[in-house]
Amino acid sequence: MKKRKLKKEPLIFLFVIACILVYYLNFRSKPVDKSLSSLGYSSKEVSIVMKNVSKNDYKFIKKYDDSIINIISSRDYKKENFKKYLDYYEKNTDSDINDIITIINSDYDLMKYKASSLLASLVKEKYYIYKNTARYLDYTKEKDVSKIISIVNSKADYEFYTNTSVSNIDDGNLVLVNKFYHLPDKYEPNDLVTLTSKYNQGANSKLRKEAADAFMKMVDGAMLDNIILKNSSAYRSYDYQVSLYERYVKRDGKEKADIYSARPGYSEHQTGLCTDINTIDSSFANTKEAKWLKDNAYKYGFILRFPKDKENITGYKYEPWHYRYVGEKIAKIIYDEDLTLEEYYAYYVEK
Ligand SMILES: [Zn+2]
Repeated sequence: MKKRKLKKEPLIFLFVIACILVYYLNFRSKPVDKSLSSLGYSSKEVSIVMKNVSKNDYKFIKKYDDSIINIISSRDYKKENFKKYLDYYEKNTDSDINDIITIINSDYDLMKYKASSLLASLVKEKYYIYKNTARYLDYTKEKDVSKIISIVNSKADYEFYTNTSVSNIDDGNLVLVNKFYHLPDKYEPNDLVTLTSKYNQGANSKLRKEAADAFMKMVDGAMLDNIILKNSSAYRSYDYQVSLYERYVKRDGKEKADIYSARPGYSEHQTGLCTDINTIDSSFANTKEAKWLKDNAYKYGFILRFPKDKENITGYKYEPWHYRYVGEKIAKIIYDEDLTLEEYYAYYVEK
């Protein structure tokens, strides 16, 4: 008889604990429940809120708005961003909820820009750079979002030869020289070497040591495929570029000369890192040598510097003969990702 009594006691004890627990949980959740219901949220909506919004954030819901439920139910919704979504939504009540979520997930500081599908597509792009946001949004000459990013990252939303700055020599093989970056006055590399006649057919036959070694290796490699490559023009001094550019301006006028020739200080040839190969003429594009270079130069650290259809990024028309040394590792990235040096530099160096 005594044994039975003893068995019942722990059960009663557990039952009492359970009652207290249920009462406690109920008591705690009731006010939220009630306040949301009193704002007009259905019981289904209330449970969505309670499941997906943290307790500290309930208080930010001050009126009935089914968009709040849409925000919470969205695929990319993140609990910790709830308050930011609400703030941004309040400023952009007409905008698409998914755009709002994408933009806030990307960067809270974007709140200062108006929510739009363009902004949402921009932040999803691989090469998007936050500090360029205003310029992306301002650039209206192009509709394609990835092209807008490429152009603006390359500064090519500015007019050529405006907003210029001095190239950073410390970038070594990656030094950027184009219509926005120019070399310091009278810059001359200190490790130029002369290519022998086996590798050269032009008057300007000097390259920086590392680039020269890579170039000779490439020429030797090409020869195994029965491809004959020779340098036609490599390092060009500042003074040489002055005479060249002046000659072109005299012949064709400044506007035309700027399309195919660089202004002094703005020529990549002054870096000692690039070479014009074989024929400096657009007909070169159709040769087997040009084809070989396009497919293989990156293996030796060279990139096709002014590719087809990238004129609005590089500032130069297609030059199938002009190759620039950047080193094997980076040449491969540029080749694989189909970038120009401008795009690579903006995203991987400057950013
Ligand atoms: Zn060239």
